[in-house]
Amino acid sequence: MNSEPSSPDVVLSIIVPCYNEEKAVSVFFDDVIKTGASLKVPFELIFIDDGSKDDTLRILREIAARDASLHYISLSRNFGKEAATLAGLQSARGEYIVTLDVDGQDPLSLIPEMLNSVVSGECDCAGARRVDRLGEPPVRSFFARRFYKLIKKFADIDVVDGARDFRLMSRKCLDALLSLPERNRFSKGILPWIGFKTKWFEYKNIERVSGKSKWSFWKLFLYALDGMIAFSSKPLAIASVMGFFLFIAALALIVFIVIRKLTFGDPVDGWASTVCIILLCSGIQLFTMGILGQYMAKTYTEVKQRPHFIIKEAK
Ligand code: UDP
Ligand code: MG
Repeated sequence: MNSEPSSPDVVLSIIVPCYNEEKAVSVFFDDVIKTGASLKVPFELIFIDDGSKDDTLRILREIAARDASLHYISLSRNFGKEAATLAGLQSARGEYIVTLDVDGQDPLSLIPEMLNSVVSGECDCAGARRVDRLGEPPVRSFFARRFYKLIKKFADIDVVDGARDFRLMSRKCLDALLSLPERNRFSKGILPWIGFKTKWFEYKNIERVSGKSKWSFWKLFLYALDGMIAFSSKPLAIASVMGFFLFIAALALIVFIVIRKLTFGDPVDGWASTVCIILLCSGIQLFTMGILGQYMAKTYTEVKQRPHFIIKEAK
């Protein structure tokens, strides 16, 4: 699906993915409509119900029935935040597009400044970056920081620590973003990949208004792995380098054993060391096969060319 041509009657499209957010939707809608009105430009709101199991869709239907500025798209099941956001981006009609979360963690007060900087041509994309992680479980913060360090080393793109999915971009950026057909959408990587000038707006972390983060530690880990695989082939190189060094080590050991046998005449004793070496080598083999498998699995998903999401209902 391609983006519709921009229409002059909408200047700003506000895209909001929602998954099980019955408690947050109404409050957020009231706030965002106030912010929209203060901008003094025509705007549209596109809420995406990402297969919520609670009353989110019913609330969206109700709001849309009384307020024409709200459009909603309901997906047939939970496709994940990236797919839900993409559904919204594809149907956005505005000249400028902003994506943000429904849970109040993205400060709406930044929107006017962000819009100004993009409209004035100072930058093509305005991004929000939280400068701390207050209120987040320390273990999560620790691993998040490690992940950013690691991906900076591995990938050829600049993934910014603390960058939120709260972005305001020009139509030019959006078209570039939509031209990437991949299924494995890691937006923290895709956005720097498309280039363009980004200006960062910093703010202190805000905790959710209600509910819990949808990201369990395990989900975040898999997401990080996805990002790593989508933007770097260095893990494959590590596997080859590891294999090469093990081969050299094995050669050196063989030479050592042969010389020892020829000089001292005693056979190598001790099966424990042999078992350790076998275990080490097979462990490394499995590990590298796992890395290969990850790339293959991602390739498999891309080759199948399934749609990113399926729409059940829209208004
Ligand atoms: N979300 C979604 N689909 C999902 C998970 C989350 O659309 O499968 C939405 C969610 O409703 C929220 C945003 O994505 O508006 C961010 O989710 P969350 O607050 O759980 O993530 P965090 O802020 O902890 O990164
Ligand atoms: Mg959140």
